[in-house]
Amino acid sequence: MVLIVYLNKQVEEERILLPADQHKPRKTVEVQKKKSRVINNKEAFKTVYLTFDDGPSQWTHEILDVLHAYDIQATFFMIGSNLDKSELHHAVRRASKAGHYIGAHSMTHDYDILYQQKNFVSEMEQTIEIIEEITSKSPNLVRAPYGSLPGLRNDEILSQIRSKEMKVWDWTIDTYDWEKDANEEKILTTLQEHVYRDTEVVLLHEKEQTLKALPEIIHFFIEQGYGFEVYQEAHHFPNNFLGDDQL
Ligand SMILES: [Zn+2]
Repeated sequence: MVLIVYLNKQVEEERILLPADQHKPRKTVEVQKKKSRVINNKEAFKTVYLTFDDGPSQWTHEILDVLHAYDIQATFFMIGSNLDKSELHHAVRRASKAGHYIGAHSMTHDYDILYQQKNFVSEMEQTIEIIEEITSKSPNLVRAPYGSLPGLRNDEILSQIRSKEMKVWDWTIDTYDWEKDANEEKILTTLQEHVYRDTEVVLLHEKEQTLKALPEIIHFFIEQGYGFEVYQEAHHFPNNFLGDDQL
């Protein structure tokens, strides 16, 4: 939170330097825009996509609070069995309204059911339907539980995915925040050791330790000169372990 305090101080100083018409709304908007651009450098050469799997959860609101504080939009991949819990719908709607992308992450998250029994596409369709019921938006991006490899190395499932025009995103960095002994420090160390690409897609989960690490994760990427982006269907690019440029 140090950065925000510092930036607020900067904004205050800028206000002092403004001419007599400083209270006109136009100036305030300019200052606000400048402030958010400093926090989230959208014109940065390097881009990071923060992605949160396995929600919605008891942590969704707090994750959204942190993202809001930094003016960052993220990409969520939600599980149907969690989306079915009506007490979590408010957080899902809030995320959608705030411009975060909500993609599908299957109904069961079960390896055998999804890949051996080949229910991948039908489960994703079902999850997408639930997301649409809650948010009125129908995503076409999904994330394969456990990643697209080895589960999706299967022609039958792949042709189903193509015929439904679904897109599948993996990640470039696994923070291992899902491990039993994961904590704030370990998550950050893993991240720091693996960030080097111009475009990074970071695998995170809706977990308490991830929430705790999130401000530091954000600070780290800011320090490294990254701008934060949310997935946009209109600007899709392939990002899968299969190396399949159609996905
Ligand atoms: Zn998952």
